[in-house]
Amino acid sequence: MTVRTRFAPSPTGFMHLGGVRTALYNYLYARKMGGQFILRIEDTDQARFVEGATEVIYDTLKACGLNWDEGPDNGGPCGPYVQSERKDLYLPYARQLVESGHAYYCFCTEEELAGRRQDAEKRGETFKYDKHCLHLRPEEVQARLDRGDPYVIRLNAPTEGVSTYVDEVYGEMSFPNDTLDDMVLIKADGLPTYNFANVIDDHLMGITHVMRGAEYLSSTPKYNLLYDALGWERPVYVHLPTVMRDSQHKLSKRDGDA
Ligand code: GLU
Repeated sequence: MTVRTRFAPSPTGFMHLGGVRTALYNYLYARKMGGQFILRIEDTDQARFVEGATEVIYDTLKACGLNWDEGPDNGGPCGPYVQSERKDLYLPYARQLVESGHAYYCFCTEEELAGRRQDAEKRGETFKYDKHCLHLRPEEVQARLDRGDPYVIRLNAPTEGVSTYVDEVYGEMSFPNDTLDDMVLIKADGLPTYNFANVIDDHLMGITHVMRGAEYLSSTPKYNLLYDALGWERPVYVHLPTVMRDSQHKLSKRDGDA
C-alpha cells in the first residue's frame, strides 16, 4: 500500500502554527514511507471565505519547505484539488445515500430550525435536528422537489448503539449514537458541506492516513457512517492534540492567531 496523506485547510482565516504542525506531520509521514503528500483546499463554505487566506496557505507551506506532490497548482491524477472546482461531483453520492436510506431530503427552513433551536435552549437542551423530514412520505418529497422547494440533504444517523473506531494517538474512541446529529451533507446552495466533501475527497484521492486536529475526534464517527454506507474502506486516523495559545485557549483562525 502506498501511503497518501493530505493537508486539507479551509481558507476561513489565516493559517496559524497549528496548521503548520498538521501539515508537517502529514508531510513527514508521507516522506518517511515513500508515499505522497497532497494539498487540498476545502473552500465550500463561501460565507466564511477569507480573501487572501489561500495565498497565505501556499506561501507558508513553501516557506517551510513542505512541498506537496499533488495540489492545486501542480495538479495530479485526482484533480482538481480545490473543492469549489469539484462542486458537481458530490451530489450524486448524496443521492446514492438517500436511495440506500442513509440520508434524506430536508425542507425545514432556517426560521423553523431557529425556532426549534430556541425552544431546545429554553428547555436547557442542546439542539439536535429532530428528523422531522425523515418522516415525510416519498410522494410528498417528490412533489416538493418537483416544485423546486429549497432543500438540504442530511445524514440519517442512528439513534441507538455506540460508534467505535481506533485512533492511532488517542486509542479506542466510543461515542453513543444518540449524540450524533443528522449533519447536512448538501446545503441549500447545492454545495457540499465540509463534512461531506472531506470524506468523498479523501476516498477519491486515495488518502490512507488522515492526520488532523483533535477537534475532529467527535465528528469522525459520522464520517465513518459515510464510509460504511458507501462501502468504502475507512482511512487510518491520527488526531493531533490541539496547539494552545495559552493554558485556556487553542490557537484559532477566527481569532487571527499567529
Ligand atoms: N478543512 C478542515 C480545516 O481547515 C480540515 C479538516 C481535515 O483535515 O479533515 O480545519
